[in-house]
Amino acid sequence: MSSWKRKPPRVADLTRAQYSGWDCCWCGKRLAHGARSAGRAQGSSGAYDLSVEVYECGSRCPARPRRPTSSRTGDTP
Ligand SMILES: [Zn+2]
Repeated sequence: MSSWKRKPPRVADLTRAQYSGWDCCWCGKRLAHGARSAGRAQGSSGAYDLSVEVYECGSRCPARPRRPTSSRTGDTP
């Protein structure tokens, strides 16, 4: 079983609005209806854990990373 999980951007790459959960963490669009959790952005500053839950504007976000296409070739000898 392989459930590919998108990793949200790192905290250091987020704008303040994205970090605060106001903007989509992928495209930076101001979130309104349909926003949903994109996971937890990882980050730390010294001893402080800065990881925070971030949000995306939806499954059709234009900047959201796509599931990587599997390039496995099963029938290669
Ligand atoms: Zn978006």
